[in-house]
Amino acid sequence: MKIRFARTAGFCMGVRRAVDMVLDLQRGNTPLPIVTYGPLIHNPQTLEILDARGVTEAGNIEEIDRGTVVVRAHGISPAEHGLLKEKGLQVVDATCPRVRRVQVLVERHAGQGRFCVIVGDADHPEVRGVMGFATAGGVALAEANLDQMSTLVPSDREVCVVAQTTQDRQTFEKVVRALERHCLKIHVHDTICDSTKRRQQEVTRLARQVDLVVVVGGKGSGNTRRLAQVAEACGARSLHVETAGEIDPKDLDGVSRVGVTGGASTPNWQMRQAVDRIKEISATRRSGPLRRLRRAVDAAVMTYGFAALGGGGLTATCMTLQGETPTWPPLVVAMLFVFSMHLLNRLHDRSGAVRFNSPEIAAFYARHTTALTAAGLASSLGAIVLALGVGITTCILLTCTLVMGRLYSAALFSASGNGRNSWLGLRDVPWSKTPAVTFGWAFVAAVLPVVEAPARVNFIGLAVAFVLAAGMVFWRMAVSDLMDVQGDRIVGRQTIPVVLGVDQTRKILWILLVLLGGYCALGVWMGWISAAGYVLEVNMLLFAVLFVFYARRQLADRLLYEGAADLNFVLAGILVWQAGM
Ligand code: SF4
Repeated sequence: MKIRFARTAGFCMGVRRAVDMVLDLQRGNTPLPIVTYGPLIHNPQTLEILDARGVTEAGNIEEIDRGTVVVRAHGISPAEHGLLKEKGLQVVDATCPRVRRVQVLVERHAGQGRFCVIVGDADHPEVRGVMGFATAGGVALAEANLDQMSTLVPSDREVCVVAQTTQDRQTFEKVVRALERHCLKIHVHDTICDSTKRRQQEVTRLARQVDLVVVVGGKGSGNTRRLAQVAEACGARSLHVETAGEIDPKDLDGVSRVGVTGGASTPNWQMRQAVDRIKEISATRRSGPLRRLRRAVDAAVMTYGFAALGGGGLTATCMTLQGETPTWPPLVVAMLFVFSMHLLNRLHDRSGAVRFNSPEIAAFYARHTTALTAAGLASSLGAIVLALGVGITTCILLTCTLVMGRLYSAALFSASGNGRNSWLGLRDVPWSKTPAVTFGWAFVAAVLPVVEAPARVNFIGLAVAFVLAAGMVFWRMAVSDLMDVQGDRIVGRQTIPVVLGVDQTRKILWILLVLLGGYCALGVWMGWISAAGYVLEVNMLLFAVLFVFYARRQLADRLLYEGAADLNFVLAGILVWQAGM
């Protein structure tokens, strides 16, 4: 079954901003408790997670008597804002800037005495909030009450017309045409949000290419429901689900191409869960050998089997760059190191991030905890024994690196903050994850294989190989972090994309790729590393191709990305080794 993933799916700017603001508040010293006035976003699962983290929701102002109150992305009326302030609460305004623009427009026209028409659902919180700014009179109009327009809208006054940001264009234009005929003079502002427009346009295209469109998101979210309606209107079958568990195998009967999209308040981990569920159902329909092959490949990626091979490939690369002939013992030591470190760290993840970011992987680990723990410990032991065969220095350094790796993930001390107690470790240090992993890989791949013969070491070559290895591993890990950014934020993990933001991290990763390519060419040209280093440019190019696929959101499948990135390390090892012979 082919799965097409909508590029526009997932949190829109306003929702992402509101959720980020709440998560930032949790890390700060804001007065507690943190309460959102109304649901922060229309997604029950995200609200449950926030609730578990101590962010509660109040349906009305009377319920809030202390702490910090967060105004949701839909905004509130000036009167409600005044009441919150009067109560002495700390008010944090997470109103989406695009909704705020509508409020400002209505306020300005009302100040000039104009009647305001909001094309939208009168009961929607955004419309109720905007209506509060219409101090010279106003009304919400939609198709349902358009026939009452002549009584609801005065014909002898100037009228300002705006749209609810998630309104569909056809309805907006229809209401505007009716008002033009009825009113003395109208001032029209098309305030439909671009994000809504792009989502609807993409689902229209998607619906023509697939047999079924799965729309993931809250049943109470108007824009999500509308996506399902748009897909149906284009002739595709649509299925609106709130969680992946609602996708029944029968829903996919006769379906060979399925599109997956989500509303503006659907987090990306929920869409990933839906993709995983579809893949799972699809896998049960494959013939025996094919299904077994796919499962074996997925299991190898999930348990870092491919990453282990990548560690071996990177070691072969670094040895060749330093003018050494790769031999199997250091390669296998690196493979066992990478395998055991990643496996054990993921098994003992305390943050819960795996559950959000990679539900398929979390379920796999929960099913095979004992076997995977045994495999992780056995490979640590195997690496130490093999390293002893290489030399005592190698063995001591490897053991230290393994211990540091385990210490990094361990809970070392207890801390309290924001009314909660928790155990923290080095892993909780902001930004630390990717650099720590990068150092481990680069050390084992570039330094460990040459420590037994210090007299022979080409120190400049070693430094260049270390930097290249570290840069490539950093790049691979940081792209994974980019894919996990929403889940990491929600569990409070401070990865580089969480701290710097997605756009900034993307820019840095592009620059890094270019710098690595240039540095590699310079190293060869200056004679610092073997001439075989030129071949690495192919691998940089392949990383760039992978990044383009990621940026175009055509890599919905995390396992596919990780498998491809790790195989690129293997390919680097083979190509550079061959070129160096
Ligand atoms: Fe803001 Fe548009 Fe998202 Fe509404 S849909 S919250 S207006 S970005």
